[in-house]
Amino acid sequence: SSATDTIRATLFPGDGIGPEIAESVKQVFRTAEVPIEWEEHYVGDQVDPRTQSFLTWESLESVRRNRVGLKGPMATPIGKGHRSLNLTLRKELNLYANVRPCYSLPGYKTRYDDVNLITIRENTEGEYSGLEHQVVRGVVESLKIITRQASLRVAEYAFHYAKTHGRERVSAIHKANIMQKTDGLFLKCCREVAEKYPEITYEEVVIDNCCMMLVKNPALFDVLVMPNLYGDIISDLCAGLIGGLGLTPSCNIGEGGIALAEAVHGSAPDIAGKNMANPTALLLSSVSMLRHLNLHDKADRIQDAILNTIAEGKYRTADLGGTSTTTDFTKAICDHL
Ligand code: NAD
Repeated sequence: SSATDTIRATLFPGDGIGPEIAESVKQVFRTAEVPIEWEEHYVGDQVDPRTQSFLTWESLESVRRNRVGLKGPMATPIGKGHRSLNLTLRKELNLYANVRPCYSLPGYKTRYDDVNLITIRENTEGEYSGLEHQVVRGVVESLKIITRQASLRVAEYAFHYAKTHGRERVSAIHKANIMQKTDGLFLKCCREVAEKYPEITYEEVVIDNCCMMLVKNPALFDVLVMPNLYGDIISDLCAGLIGGLGLTPSCNIGEGGIALAEAVHGSAPDIAGKNMANPTALLLSSVSMLRHLNLHDKADRIQDAILNTIAEGKYRTADLGGTSTTTDFTKAICDHL
């Protein structure tokens, strides 16, 4: 293909195991001849005054310009005078929805064979607004912010996703019986949007009941949409249903069609630099990035190669009970390609 067909995408290798698993993605993309040119950006070693964080302004500009990117895990340095890296990305790029597909991997046995659900997490407000203070000694307060605008936006995304991905049902997860005002408003917005999608079944499930149902029979769910904190917890629960953090991808959707894909897991300092990390989660995140770019052929090929490698069982990393290194596992995927 000619140079004009090449798509530029931002790549943040990130911290800890990030560079090792990012290298896997680069290698797999080269082997599959994916027409992507990476613009690599590392987290800086000092605070950039323009972002008030260790993320450089240039790296944010790169995502804004390319509208698409892949992000490794980032460990926020401890100390005063800067914002968390992930929070900075969410705020600066207005990444309002976090989409986490979760499906059973054929050939990798867990308690369930039939998990196939999508969690969609509101990503900008709720308990993550960062508004906490001390009222008096011994009493602190945290503000949970729910707005009509952000709730409608994420609900709209969830129903649109369900419709365009052939899904049948959207479940709004809440605790509106206790959080009447906040979760109540979230539900009201979901109901409003649901009316515009009569072909999609809409239901509301209280979060505690949802946890019980997920653990008992995850096949009961299809697409789940929820406020920030519930989404954080439920999506990790769902990762556990299919074999853990080494496997689960996600994609952040931002204003104006930005898509920044990332693995759900963190920088795994305990295994960083040891060639032990499972690159599957970041690889499947890169597959969701390709789907966002409508490069479905490449996405299918890479996804099949990953799933076949895992199913075959010959090369698996330690988190899946195997003995393969990151590089051996990656090479096995490339051989499948
Ligand atoms: P973690 O996800 O890094 O690790 C939890 C456990 O899972 C560890 O035992 C780790 O070895 C294992 N693990 C995670 N990913 C794996 C993979 N790909 N292959 C094999 N094993 C894997 O969570 P943590 O230890 O709580 O956090 C470490 C750092 O990561 C912290 O600084 C945290 O702030 C950061 N973090 C970043 C993100 C992000 O960038 N999105 C998300 C979560 C945590």
